[in-house]
Amino acid sequence: MKQRSVIRSIAGMRCPKCREGKMFPAHTLYTRHFMKMNDRCSCCGQSFEPEPAYYFGAMFISYALNAGYFIALWVALLIVMDNIPDALIIGGTIALVISLLPITFRLSRVLWIYIFVRYRGPIESSAAAIHQH
Ligand SMILES: [Zn+2]
Repeated sequence: MKQRSVIRSIAGMRCPKCREGKMFPAHTLYTRHFMKMNDRCSCCGQSFEPEPAYYFGAMFISYALNAGYFIALWVALLIVMDNIPDALIIGGTIALVISLLPITFRLSRVLWIYIFVRYRGPIESSAAAIHQH
């Protein structure tokens, strides 16, 4: 089995342990179900919410991502404009934060769990899944 890079696994929002199973149900990103998360990995059985309020800390990653959008927008505007109106930078940031909300929400959770759950590789993970059954 070919190994996925950590960047591709995070971008694909896959299980941190085996990098195979999807953390979120398909086709729900830009729907009102964007907060839905799978309970556990369909491939290795890793729980995606190991303890209650597990994702409290993901809030800080979410803040950092939003700050990143602001900086990216500001730099992009600096390149094309000499004087950036305050309303444009504020309005643009609000528009970005709202339009990217489902992605920010999921990405902050994915990054959070990737900090704590180590990659075990596809073979060891599937062996662990057998032990759990
Ligand atoms: Zn897995």
